[in-house]
Amino acid sequence: MRRETSLAEVFDLVVIGAGSGGVRAGRLAATYGARVAVVEEYRVGGTCVIRGCVPKKFFVYASRFTDMFEVAGGFGWTVNASFDWPTLVANKDKEIARLEAAYVAALETPGAELIRDRAILTGPSSIQLVKSGRVLEAGTILIATGGHPHIPDIPGNELGITSNEAFHLATLPRSILIEGGGYVAVEFATIFAGLGVDTTIVYRGDCVLRGFDEDLRQGLSAGLQARGIRLIYETNVRALRKSGDNIVVSFSDEVEAPFGAVMFATGRRANVSGYGLEAAGIEMTPGRHIAVDEYSRTSNPSIYAVGDVTGRSQLTPVAIREGAAFAETVFNNNPTAVDHSLIGTAVFAEPEVATIGLTEAEAATHGDIDVYLVRFRPMINTLSTRTERMMLKLITLAGGGRVLGCHILGPGAAEMIQLVAIPMGMGAAKADFDRAMAMHPTAGEELVTFRAPAYRYRGGVRS
Ligand code: NDP
Repeated sequence: MRRETSLAEVFDLVVIGAGSGGVRAGRLAATYGARVAVVEEYRVGGTCVIRGCVPKKFFVYASRFTDMFEVAGGFGWTVNASFDWPTLVANKDKEIARLEAAYVAALETPGAELIRDRAILTGPSSIQLVKSGRVLEAGTILIATGGHPHIPDIPGNELGITSNEAFHLATLPRSILIEGGGYVAVEFATIFAGLGVDTTIVYRGDCVLRGFDEDLRQGLSAGLQARGIRLIYETNVRALRKSGDNIVVSFSDEVEAPFGAVMFATGRRANVSGYGLEAAGIEMTPGRHIAVDEYSRTSNPSIYAVGDVTGRSQLTPVAIREGAAFAETVFNNNPTAVDHSLIGTAVFAEPEVATIGLTEAEAATHGDIDVYLVRFRPMINTLSTRTERMMLKLITLAGGGRVLGCHILGPGAAEMIQLVAIPMGMGAAKADFDRAMAMHPTAGEELVTFRAPAYRYRGGVRS
């Protein structure tokens, strides 16, 4: 334990930011006996719990009833449904408040002190709190300040919203334009469209989800259009202006059009400004994230950083893993580095997308590969007129070798990829998948019953 001074309160660890990474790190460090303070200026739980993954998934569930109602007739149902947005928002807020309280308890039960304030570094081990004026001295500081939505610098951008505001709209707009082609854009597009909002995506690229497997991108793009979502590619928003109840959008192709609302889903930036990082001599990456080593240590040896602020992967489970590894390393004498090499990810759009490992294009540059691919109508659609198909793709080294990638589009994709992550992490080969007995009737059984590749790449050439 460090020596108390007359001015500063002394802690073994001060965590800045009570999101997924900060809470896990603070809780574990306190469990290991450290004297911990966690400083948070907003709500406890971070983006994921308060205005990200969790409330988003509630909205996704709400929007998916539309698809279910569409197939219900084939199963004999007559559905006269109506939807009430304020009910959804109020119930979502209630559950988020419950989860926030659970996060507070997770910190306080092992003895960490939660301080609701803004922390500014005044040196490598000293922190000033803005509201209370308290001064903290820390053996170790952990920066887990997360990120915020990026808004393009264009005229009228103050008229647009981001995902932050989308969770608290008083009413659903008549129509919405969403700019971007990433996770947030496609997830919110399917949420709004599923809830009856006339929805348009405008994206500067040629297809949504850049960097994902091409079949997933094309399949999702088609699925979005099948749900009535307009897709405008290779176009930017140039300016917004108000006209009556509408926002008139000027696009880069000189077209203008009115929308009830405009949402920017144009990526996120790390929260690195106004925390005194310069005073502590912390180095940044070229992308304005905090630079860290494999143990999440910054250029200042007593300061660490985890989660979105480090830019390694903007995913909650990764931040949690990094926070836990930090606590193990620093407070449990057990140096632990997080393996970022194989991270599965899901996009809760409609149709759902989930993926792990190499895309087909990437794998084709890694040697000779086989591609196993199946497309079929999910069973739930077969008694209805819906023709949408799902897709499962397994990419292996040639001749039944190691599985390099798995990509799924359709119902249950995220749940399936979560479990495929286990054998892939163990280095499983095609034969290991084949050894598993199929479960019938499921979609996932296709992954263990592939007989022959749909096609192969030899020397980088598809055959
Ligand atoms: P993404 O990085 O996924 O997508 C940002 C999109 O905005 C891209 O299509 C990008 O285009 C485009 N873009 C960026 N800058 C501009 C600009 N100035 N003008 C026009 N378009 C622009 O960010 P998101 O905000 O969607 O999500 C942030 C991160 O949060 C994700 O990467 C993911 O890690 C995480 N997340 C995870 C979810 C999940 O796990 N289900 C859900 C939501 C978010 P381009 O492709 O050309 O770069």
